[in-house]
This record gives sequence, structure tokens and C-alpha cells, in this order.
Amino acid sequence: MIKVCKFGGTSMADANSIRQVKNIIEADASRRFVVVSAPGKRFKDDIKITDMLYRCYDEVVEFGTCKKSFSIIRERFVQIVKDLELDLDIDSVLDKTEKDIDESKCPDFAASRGEYLSAIVTAAFLGFEFVDAADIIRFDRHGQLNKDYTADKVYNALNDVEKAVIPGFFGRNFQGEIKTFSRGGSDITGSIIANGIKADLYENWTDVSGFLVCDPRIVPEAKAINQITYKEVRELSYMGASVLHAEAIAPVMRRRIPINIKNTFKPEDKGTMIVPNDMYQASANDSVITGIAGKKNFTVLLIEKSMMNAEVGFIRKVLSVVEHFNICVEHLPSGIDTLSVILSSDQLKDGVLSDLVNEIRENVNPDYIHVMENVSLIATVGHGMARRHGTAATLFTALANENINIKMIDQGSSELNIIIGVANSDYEKCIRAIYKAFN
Ligand code: ADP
Ligand code: ASP
Ligand code: MG
Repeated sequence: MIKVCKFGGTSMADANSIRQVKNIIEADASRRFVVVSAPGKRFKDDIKITDMLYRCYDEVVEFGTCKKSFSIIRERFVQIVKDLELDLDIDSVLDKTEKDIDESKCPDFAASRGEYLSAIVTAAFLGFEFVDAADIIRFDRHGQLNKDYTADKVYNALNDVEKAVIPGFFGRNFQGEIKTFSRGGSDITGSIIANGIKADLYENWTDVSGFLVCDPRIVPEAKAINQITYKEVRELSYMGASVLHAEAIAPVMRRRIPINIKNTFKPEDKGTMIVPNDMYQASANDSVITGIAGKKNFTVLLIEKSMMNAEVGFIRKVLSVVEHFNICVEHLPSGIDTLSVILSSDQLKDGVLSDLVNEIRENVNPDYIHVMENVSLIATVGHGMARRHGTAATLFTALANENINIKMIDQGSSELNIIIGVANSDYEKCIRAIYKAFN
């Protein structure tokens, strides 16, 4: 039995939490490969090491050195090593890291050093080998993970190693430079290591007792989900459930390795098992919906043209304009004479929105284009929805009772989710209403 364990930022935040990590690892001999994040927040207004490292990069760009910002990082690691009573020359490691950040002039390199330092400290504390992600995780020339190369490298580097700590969040690009995943990417590293070493289980240790039905910052009493499928997690993570990175599912999918979300500070809680569809064990007390997640700040372009459906190539023409602006489309619900193009608003700044609308007007000559800004998208996800009647009715009644105006509805063709658009100002109220309606 091999388990890969990833510990997030809160689990690595200080000496006390790292001691807790050690207890967890030592409680089970199959926990052989440990992936760590950079130290995160210790209290509400604390600064994550990764955020400090991006500041280091900015400081290098402005002043040629990151001395000031790096001193805060230095202080935190020195304190951790001291509190853990480690026999480790952390000063030399930090000196070299500071110099490397000054010289590299690359934001990804700077950002990656939090995980790097965290893994060096954790490996020394656990008495495990340190294996650098830079030597085993590789991206191709399009910036995508080079899957087969990476899987082989991981296997070859770890197969003969009894126990190791690997830094999360980064690898190397095809030119050999350090490249990070997007924020929260240590979850992806854990999944890549689990696949490469052919693990039986990927344990993802965080600061909540599993994947909860919805964001606990919006519904503090939200329950943990016992079991959930890969597909449902993809939908929820992509739509904003930040507990697991949306790209952390793909690497473990091929080998069908389950992911167990666990709480470092309550290791006795069962947490959530994330499994392939056919490993899901239905139970009598399964809820109709599995989870709710959402994101703010979308813009909807509602395009109307009579006989749109009879005009060959209409949707293609609209999409090619959007593509010309290098903008990703989030959703595309359509009616007979209407098409809604939903885009994330951060792609439409600095006049891009009006240019885009003008170009669509010129290209497809619509009767009308209406622009709705400040829209939130909320997904209600559940593999049980397809088989049960009345899910949508329950959802829409709950929103009507709270006087929430629905601006857009989109039901995924998999019948795994219903996505609605509401005003940003209704976002939290809407999630609470849906949670209440189904729990
Ligand atoms: P880590 O640093 O361990 O990777 P993250 O901060 O990335 O932890 O993810 C855990 C946090 O995700 C929780 O503390 C919680 O605030 C937030 N979160 C958002 N949606 C959910 C959800 N559906 N279930 C659990 N946590 C969620
Ligand atoms: N430290 C990185 C971040 O803050 C990666 C991670 O924690 O997963 O995004
Ligand atoms: Mg995370």
C-alpha cells in the first residue's frame, strides 16, 4: 500500500502545525510520499509566503534586489526551524535562495521558493529524502504538463526511495526554467506524484474536514460530503470550490486513484472520498444534490436576432470574434432567437468590452445586444439530479421565496449541474437559499 499525502498552506504555517503533520505521517507507514505547500496564513490578516515571494519579484524588478520583502520570509523560516529544534543550516539555504531570486528575474521562480524551502524543512524534520519537483515535473512548449515524461520521471526518482518529501506547485518548462501551476497548484503536484508512483490513495490534508456541500465562509454549518465522484468535483472546483484545484483530478483519473480530503487538525474525521463513477457507493441518505459552488464577476452578452437559428454559421461568427480577442467563453446558453455569451469580466477591462460588442455588431448584425455586468454564476451539482424529479423546481422556488432575480439559466448536457446567473449582490444569499432548500 502506498499513500501520497499533500499538506496545504495552513498545515505548513508554523512549527505546531508541522509537528501535527509529523504525527499524521508517523501514524501510518504507508504514508511514504509527502507533497508540501508553502507556509500559509497563521491568522486572518497574516500573509502567505507565496504572496510575499511575488512581492520579492516586484521588488527585484523595481530595485534590483528583494532584500526587504525577503527578510519577512527569512524570519518565518528561521522561526520554524528554531521551534522545531532542527539541526539544519537554514541561513545558508536562505542566503542562496535570496540570491537566486535576485538573479533569476522570473516571477515563477520566485513564487516556487516557498514550496522548495518548506519541503527542505519538512524533509529534515521527518527524516525523509528531499526530491526536487524541478527534476521530475516537466511542461511542454505549450505550457501543458508533459504527462508521460513526468510520470516516468516520478516513477524512476521515487521507486527506489523509501520515503520522500516533494515540494508542490512547480516543475520545469521545456527550456529548463522553473514554471509554476496556477494558484493552489500543489494539489496538482500531489495528484501527479500519486499517478507516477502508482499510489493506492492520494490524501489531501487541509484545514477543513472534507469537501463541504458549499463554501464554509458563506454557510458556516455546511456539512462534509462523504463521497463524491471525480466529475462532480471537477464541476464544483472549476466553479469556485477552492478546497481542491480543478486540475487535480486529471492525473489520478487514469489509474482511478481515490482522493481523500482530510483535516490536519482533526485527523480522526473521515473527510471526503473522491472516486470514479463506478466506485461510488450509493447510500439511502444521499442528498439529491452533492454540492454548490460559485464565482462572482461575469459579464453576459445577450444577443438577439430573429431567425437566428436559420442563419448558417451564426454562432461560429460570434465565437470567432470572441476568439479574435483571445477571450475564453465560460458558457453559451441559447434559445431560438437568442444567444448568451458568458465571459469572465477580468478579460474585458480597458475598453475591451465595448470593442468586442462593436465587432460582434459589425460581424453578425444582430437586432439587439444587451450587456449585463456584475453577474455571479452559481452551480448546483449532483449526479443524482438526473434521476429525480423536481430538483429544478425546489431550487427555483427557494430563490423565488428569497426574492432573488435569476438572470440566466444553463443546465449542463450531462444533467450533472444547473448553473444560474444572479447579481453579484445576491451571491451569498443565493448560495444560502439553495443550501437550505436541499438540507
Ligand atoms: P490548502 O492551503 O490546505 O490547500 P485551501 O485554502 O486551498 O487549503 O482550501 C481550503 C479552504 O477552501 C477552506 O478553508 C475553505 O475556506 C475553502 N472552501 C471553499 N469552498 C469549499 C468547500 N466546498 N468545501 C471545503 N472548503 C471550501
Ligand atoms: N503556495 C501556492 C499558492 O499559494 C500553491 C499552493 O498552496 O497550492 O497558491
Ligand atoms: Mg489549496
